Amino acid sequence: MAKVCLDYGHGGVDSGAVYKGRCEKDDNLELGLKIAEELRRHGVIVGETRTSDTTLSLKDRTLFANKGNFDYFISFHRNAYIPEKTNGVETYVYIIGREKSIELANKIQKALTQVGFTNRGVKKANFYVLRETKSPAVLIEVGFIDNSEDNKLFDSRKDEIAKEIAKAILEQLNIKYVEAPKTLYRVVAGSFLQRENAEKQVKRLKELGIDAVIVESK
Ligand SMILES: [Zn+2]
Repeated sequence: MAKVCLDYGHGGVDSGAVYKGRCEKDDNLELGLKIAEELRRHGVIVGETRTSDTTLSLKDRTLFANKGNFDYFISFHRNAYIPEKTNGVETYVYIIGREKSIELANKIQKALTQVGFTNRGVKKANFYVLRETKSPAVLIEVGFIDNSEDNKLFDSRKDEIAKEIAKAILEQLNIKYVEAPKTLYRVVAGSFLQRENAEKQVKRLKELGIDAVIVESK
């Protein structure tokens, strides 16, 4: 069974980057939780360093990751530079890149570029969580929080972004992506203990020009 650790950057007293009242910690958590759900739907065991707005040190995160014996560690962040000056996504691997980290990072970059973000490429950095995590690790900067266009993309296509990142992770794990079943919204116009009364209701609806059927449920 594949095991993945998702790390939602910042949290609690650490807001991460802030732009016009918008906090990076919230974006990281919201997007990450959606990805966790997608992965679990495919049978992946998902560990999360946090699932709410709590404060965690970088050491807490890597200790959690290293205890769990995960196949991959994926950290979610949003970038910031000079307001409205830069945009796009970049995915980081450790300076001495493990093959699997680079493979995953390339897949994620490709996926996010397809959603519409500018591709800033896969980069190497000596980040704490990348260095101290035993499993192959990547850190994604999902667009710039101080760029209105990136935020527009992030907000309007959040489900798609989550789906594409999940797909990239699943592809790396050799798991085939399966579309989520569509939700159907059924209209109920009454529940009856006597079939006769149900038939009367169907007759009434048909007289009103509304097609209706009886469905038995125990
Ligand atoms: Zn961050």
